[in-house]
Amino acid sequence: MAHSGAPPAAQPEEAQTPKFKLEKLTDRAYCLYGQGGNVGFLVTDTGVVVVDDEFEEVAQGIVDQIRSVTDRPIRYLVNTHYHGDHTGGNPVFVKFAEFIAHETVRPRLLDYPETIRRSFPDRRKQIEAEIAGLKDPADPYRLALENDLGLLDFFLKTAEAFKVKPAAPPGLTYEGQVRLWLGGEEVDVFHVAPGHTDGDSIVYFPKEKVVHMGDLFVNGRYPFIDDLAGGSARGFVTNIDRVLSMVPSDTKVIPGHGSTADVAALRHFRAFMSDLIDQVRKATQSGMSKPDAVRFIKMDQYPEIKPLSRTLGNDVATVYDEIKTGR
Ligand SMILES: [Zn+2]
Repeated sequence: MAHSGAPPAAQPEEAQTPKFKLEKLTDRAYCLYGQGGNVGFLVTDTGVVVVDDEFEEVAQGIVDQIRSVTDRPIRYLVNTHYHGDHTGGNPVFVKFAEFIAHETVRPRLLDYPETIRRSFPDRRKQIEAEIAGLKDPADPYRLALENDLGLLDFFLKTAEAFKVKPAAPPGLTYEGQVRLWLGGEEVDVFHVAPGHTDGDSIVYFPKEKVVHMGDLFVNGRYPFIDDLAGGSARGFVTNIDRVLSMVPSDTKVIPGHGSTADVAALRHFRAFMSDLIDQVRKATQSGMSKPDAVRFIKMDQYPEIKPLSRTLGNDVATVYDEIKTGR
């Protein structure tokens, strides 16, 4: 979620009835657009590897879409991180696939809902109180806080639903990197540093020259930095730099949300994150308060990046906290 995370209510174009668009990237690699995070999958002669599974309600639809191009068994599913729009289909995929994720994804799926249920209602009250003191409905800082409320509600809803669902956490967790070899293909699943969350995986199909970034890259929209779950704006840059250093320049890039892209677009998004951090750092150095940083930082040089589940103000506020606390 999140960042998408997002509160479904804040993503009208993604909250419709399940409708899929399948994009063939190479002979064997696909991107499937649906209702949550983008699904990537690789078809090999001995089985299919899937990256992310959106929501439970649409998971069977994902399977059907995969079935439309291959009858090979779906053997592995990677959860790029714990958010509900990337792991929601786990209760369906668990029936036939082995799940792979960074080791922190398991506790985020199993234990974090309880933390959310316990702590988010108070956090919600604090934000509501802060909003009550801001009279201008067009104040970017107020809008950012309202967005935070929507996001907290999405997390709470997911956490509450978790109680009644069979947990389907990853059964195979790793710390730095795990490689799969099947059907003559190699699949590299690796973690670089906390970025979108503390447990992000990047999935690379080297033979196909296709990489799935999870929500470390969202195309054309402001990212969600899940700082409450260990995310870090600087970590986005670290992660993207690692990918840029290892993939050929004609690699196809699947973002967590938005259209598939090329390496140049990934580099452009990295520049946005880096510039954002620089601008917020300057604001903190000049003694500007967080609300004023949210009001004044514009990032006009990136007009194609737009609000969707998060506003620019949310990212400014999160980066501000990150710099101030020295995380
Ligand atoms: Zn996410």
